[in-house]
Amino acid sequence: MHPDGEKILLTEEQIKLQVTKLGRQISQDYANKEILVVGILKGAMVFLADLVRKITIPTYFDFVAVSSYGSSTKSSGVVRILKDLDRSIQGRHILIVEDIIDSGLTLNYLSDNLSSRGPASIKLCALLDKPSRRIEPVNIDYCGFTIPDEFVVGYGLDYNERYRNLPYIMILSPKIYGGGKQNVTA
Ligand code: 5GP
Ligand code: MG
Ligand code: MG
Repeated sequence: MHPDGEKILLTEEQIKLQVTKLGRQISQDYANKEILVVGILKGAMVFLADLVRKITIPTYFDFVAVSSYGSSTKSSGVVRILKDLDRSIQGRHILIVEDIIDSGLTLNYLSDNLSSRGPASIKLCALLDKPSRRIEPVNIDYCGFTIPDEFVVGYGLDYNERYRNLPYIMILSPKIYGGGKQNVTA
């Protein structure tokens, strides 16, 4: 394990197995349809890349990048779109792919925003769910893992842009962020 980690929470093998299951379920549920996968940069990138290769129906990609207003350690719920979708989503089946749902503020803002653009449907696929910290309710249609209230990195998730390339998910050692429960967004 990386020396900045306290513990491996999800191994490469566990993630791989679950991503395969999610891809199979999504392919069944959307049989005879096509989907537009909307990835939320940058955290969802690694998960999305693996997930779409397990989906067998016609799949298109687009991406949004968002940043939460407020301090760097607290999600305010006011989200700024740094990079919007390239194309219209009107009449299309949208599958939002996110790394982790924590407070739920980012996702709520984004799904309201996308809903107003007239898609045929919107569903959400999140690799990780941290329900203990939810502020806004979020309906996760496809969830990889429910995790405890720990700050995790790896498999796309960062701390100050580090650790995204780790192939597993680990709990970051509190000595790296100075102790206390973290609340970093984006
Ligand atoms: P929220 O649901 O609070 O609006 O924000 C979710 C975002 O916060 C995620 O997309 C992610 O960028 C960040 N986040 C929340 N919990 C964690 C965590 O445990 N580790 C990392 N690296 N990011 C997190
Ligand atoms: Mg994210
Ligand atoms: Mg981040």
